[in-house]
Amino acid sequence: MERTVIEVGALVLDSMHVYNGPAYLAWEEGRIVEVGKGVYQDHSGPPVKRLAKPRSLAMPGLVNAHGHAAMTLLRGAGDDMPLMNWLNERIFPLEAKLGAEAVYTGTLLACWEMLRSGTTFYTDMYMFMESAAKAVSEAGMRALLSSGAVGFDEQSRLRGLERTTELVKAWEGGNNGRIRTSVGPHAPYTCPPDYLHRLAGLADELSVPLQIHLSETRVEVENSYAEFGKSPILHAADCGVFDVPTLAAHCVHVDEQDIEILAANNVHVAHNPQSNLKLGSGIAPLQALLSKNICVGLGTDGAASNNNLDMFEELRLASTLHKGVLEDATAIPAAKALYLATEGSALSCFRESGAGTLNIGREADFILVNLDSPHMTPRFDLISNLVYACGSDDVTDVFIAGEHVLSGGVPTRFDHERVLYDARRIAASFGVSLNQNEA
Ligand SMILES: [Zn+2]
Repeated sequence: MERTVIEVGALVLDSMHVYNGPAYLAWEEGRIVEVGKGVYQDHSGPPVKRLAKPRSLAMPGLVNAHGHAAMTLLRGAGDDMPLMNWLNERIFPLEAKLGAEAVYTGTLLACWEMLRSGTTFYTDMYMFMESAAKAVSEAGMRALLSSGAVGFDEQSRLRGLERTTELVKAWEGGNNGRIRTSVGPHAPYTCPPDYLHRLAGLADELSVPLQIHLSETRVEVENSYAEFGKSPILHAADCGVFDVPTLAAHCVHVDEQDIEILAANNVHVAHNPQSNLKLGSGIAPLQALLSKNICVGLGTDGAASNNNLDMFEELRLASTLHKGVLEDATAIPAAKALYLATEGSALSCFRESGAGTLNIGREADFILVNLDSPHMTPRFDLISNLVYACGSDDVTDVFIAGEHVLSGGVPTRFDHERVLYDARRIAASFGVSLNQNEA
C-alpha cells in the first residue's frame, strides 16, 4: 500500500474549515488518511510519495448536480429562445441526429470542460448512455448517469424502461465505484402519469434513485393545472415519483404547498441558476427551499442552455443572485454557496455523507487552484476569494480517488486534441449554420 502526500500553500477541507497557509493532504487507496497544517512529518508507515504544490490551494472538487453532458455538441445551436420553442424547434430535431459516437465524443468534451473548471462528479440524463458511461470511465470522473426517458407512445416507453434497466445492470458501481446510475424520466410533460408510475417502480425494483425535471417554467405549471388540475410537484407525488429517492431539477415555479411536498418527501433539488436565467425561466426560491431543510445541490444543466459547464459561475450566481432578488446581502453567504456546490450537491446526488469534503476517510477528490493569481490576492478570506473572485481559469489540476486526472489544465487519461477534432467533425455534419454574417 502506498501513501501519497501533497503539500500545498492552503487547504480548504470543507466550507467551514480552512488552513490559510502551508498544509498537507495524504491519501491511500483513493481515500484521505491524514490532513494537517504545515509540513508533513514522515512517520513509520507505508512508503510515501510526495507532491509539492506550495503555490496552490487544494479544495474539494465541485459537484454538478444536473446536466446533459453530450449537449456540449449543441452548444450555441439555439439561443435566446423560450424553453418550449428551444426544445421543440431546435434541440429535439438536432438530438434526432445524435448517435452513439456523437454522445461518446460530446461526453468526453464535457468531461474535459468540467475537469478544467474543477468538477469531479456530475449528473447526466441523456441518450446512448452506454457511450456516455464509456466516456466518463475513460476520463476518470465520477458520475450519476441516467437514460432520459420520454413516453410519447408505448414503443418509446418500453424502450425507456429497457434502456434504463440495461444501464443500471451494466454500470451501477462501474469503474471502481466511480459510476452510479439512476432512472431518468425527463419530465411530467414528456412522460404520461402511468409511465411515471412505471419508472418510479423500476427505480424501486433496481434500488437506484430517480432524477427528473420539475416546475422549470411558468408555462409548464399552467399546463399541468390545465391537464391534471394540480402542480407538477403534486402530480409527480401522486404518480409515485417521490416514493423513491428523487433529485428534482429546477423547481423554479413552486408555491408553498409544493415546497411542503418536497420537504415532506425528502425530495432533493438541483438548482441551475444560469440555465434558468438564460432560458428566461425565472429564479428558483433557493432560500425558501433551504429554510425547509430541503437538500439542494447546484448544477449547470446542459451546455445548450447555459452555455458552459462552469460550476464556479453557478457558485457565484447562487450566492449573488438571491442577494439581489431578496434585497438582502446576508442571503446565501460565500460559505453556504461553496457548501451547495460541494457537500450539498454530493448529498443531493445521493453520495455518501461527507462526500464533497476533504475530511479523513473521504474520497481524495480535490482540485488545485493557483494561489499566485490576482484573484487570490490578498488572502483575508480564502472562501470569499474562491466564491466571489476566482474563476475556473484558476483551476490547474484535478485529482479523483487520488488519481491525477487533469495536470496543468490537460486531461491525463484521454487525447483531448482528438476530442476537439471529433467534436468539430460531428457538429459540422449537423448542417447547422446560424451565423447570419458569415462571408
Ligand atoms: Zn436539464
